[in-house]
Parts: sequence; C-alpha cells; structure tokens
Amino acid sequence: MSEEVYNVAIIGSGPAGWTAGLYAARANLAPILFTGYPLGGQLSLTTEIENYPGLREGITGPELIEIMRAQAERFGTRVYETEVTKVDLLRHPFVLTTELGEFRSKTVIIATGSSPRRLGLPSEEKFFGRGVSTCATCDGFFFRGKVVAVVGGGDSAMEEATYLTRFATKVYVIHRRDRLRASQIMQQRAFANPKIEFKWNRIVTEILGDLKVEGVRLRSTVDSTEEILPIDGLFLAIGHEPNTQLFRGQLEIDEYGYLVTDRRQRTNIPGVFACGDVQDRIYRQAITAAGSGCAAALEAERFLAEMEQRGYPEIR
Ligand code: NAP
Repeated sequence: MSEEVYNVAIIGSGPAGWTAGLYAARANLAPILFTGYPLGGQLSLTTEIENYPGLREGITGPELIEIMRAQAERFGTRVYETEVTKVDLLRHPFVLTTELGEFRSKTVIIATGSSPRRLGLPSEEKFFGRGVSTCATCDGFFFRGKVVAVVGGGDSAMEEATYLTRFATKVYVIHRRDRLRASQIMQQRAFANPKIEFKWNRIVTEILGDLKVEGVRLRSTVDSTEEILPIDGLFLAIGHEPNTQLFRGQLEIDEYGYLVTDRRQRTNIPGVFACGDVQDRIYRQAITAAGSGCAAALEAERFLAEMEQRGYPEIR
C-alpha cells in the first residue's frame, strides 16, 4: 500500500464519476479516479445522445465520455484504468483495493452505475454472446440481413429496436404488457418504423436453438398460450441493476438494491458519497448523473474542510 493518503477517490467513469472528478480537481483536491469496466459505463454502449443539454447536434456516448474525461484530466484528475475489487469503508482513511494495489483516501465518491438486467433463463446463459446480447450497439452489426427481437418496453428497448433496423430485415419488440413505458418521442419513432413489429403481452420463456439462436418460446401474459417465434438474435433491454456488490454489508442499500443517499449525496458513512445510477432509481439520465456527481464532489470538499477543523467523525 502506498504511503499517500488521497483526498478524494472516485469509483466509476460514467458522467457522474467524471463530473465528480472535474469538480474535485478544480477544487484543488487532486482526486484519483478508478474507471472500472467498461470505461464510460452505460454511455460507452449508447449510440446517440440527443438530450444532453449544450450539445445541439447530439453526440455518441463514447464521444461524450472522451470529452468528459479530457476535461476532468485537464484540471488534474489522476485516472487509473482498473477495477476496484474491494473496499474497506469501516476504517478511516478508507482503503480501496485494485488490480494495481491498495489506495487510501479521506473521502470516497461512488459512481459505479448499473448493469443490464437479465431474464434469468438457463437458455439465456447458454446463448449469451452467441445470439443473446444486452447491447445492440456492440452486436447489432452481426445481424445484417437477419431477424432479431428486443425484449422490453422502455426507452432502451425502443432505442435498440430502432438502431437494429439498420442491419436486421425485421425487428420484433416483445413486451409483457400492452403499453410501453418509453417516452412519447421514442415510441413514435418505433411505431413509425416499418421494420419493427410489436409482440404485445408476451414474455420469453425459453431461447431455442442448437449451436446458435433459432427462435424463442413466448407465453401470453393474458391467456398463457404459447408460440414459437423464429429469430436469429435476441436483445435484452429490460432495465438495469445498480452495481452495489462491493459495498454490501458496509453501506445502506434500499429494497431495490440502490445505495441510499440523502439530498446531499451522503451515504450512511461520513466521507462516503454516491452519485449517478447506483443511487438513482428514478431518473437515471446522463445529465442527472452528472449533476449528482457535481454535488458529491462539492460535498466531499465541504467534508474535508470540516474534517480539517474537527477531525474524522466517529463511525456509527
Ligand atoms: P426501464 O425504463 O426500467 O424499462 C424496462 C422495461 O423492461 C420495461 O418496459 C419493463 O416492463 C421491462 N422489463 C423489466 N423486467 C422484465 C422482465 N424480467 N421480463 C420482461 N420485461 C421486463 O429501463 P430502460 O428502458 O433501460 O430505461 C432506463 C432509464 O434510462 C429510463 O429512465 C429511460 O428514460 C432512460 N433512457 C433514456 C434514453 C433516451 O432518452 N434516449 C435511452 C435509453 C434509456 P414494464 O414496463 O412492464 O415494467
């Protein structure tokens, strides 16, 4: 372990993490940031971002992440492209264990985001990466001239389905209800696309095939009737699970699995802050993540100033 005790250690490299880095660096706190994988988190897998204010023409996720990183680094955020594998938040300074060794820090800002949810079917495991995917941006290209299906009824499902029509000859959207959760503009775009066909009120019960995906078994949520839909690929867009595994047993987690924070991004441990999707079940947008990253860094700065005067508060 290095002798150095850092002021601020940030875990995560989505909009929340980079914004926390930017603010902490501009406050002269010389923050360190562990990117984790994939670098950029969910945004690294996003095709087009049209609703990030200030970018009139829209931008791709990786481009936006690259700009955020450059901006945070410009003011002195030190970046480690590695994963944090363990944290000890029950002693102070906090200890973060990474592939590169251990780091000690007076404050920690958690911005670990969330990961795509899975259906939980045995056949899904068998075909994952071989016809079943959670990322149209990554894998859509392999389905040129093929028939695919997207599961889900939210913005992600509409975005993925629309994107996949660039390659596939046909895209089914399989949704468990008869109404979408997606925003109006995303719905309208999908409804207007002649290559997209909706399979309402249905769930996937099995993915069929020998060496590759050949179809899915669907069950009606209305009358339980079953049917087989021949497809070459299945994309899951059924939401996300917050990445909180590292913090279980140390930080308070709510009934949905999200880190609990107060309005000032504080967790139950003084000096540990959380921002972005790992603590936001409601909005989960790049801009709200960036905003909470800013708040977390401002709070870390305030905490350090108070600690300077009064010492570290006793851990409850
Ligand atoms: P989401 O809004 O939570 O939608 C998940 C969808 O998957 C829902 O339609 C849900 O069905 C369905 N679902 C969940 N578990 C399922 C299961 N086990 N089996 C079958 N279906 C299941 O998630 P999201 O679409 O990933 O969006 C997350 C957030 O990111 C949202 O706030 C969204 O606005 C935002 N986002 C925005 C954009 C954009 O503006 N460009 C793009 C992507 C995402 P029910 O509807 O029945 O619950």
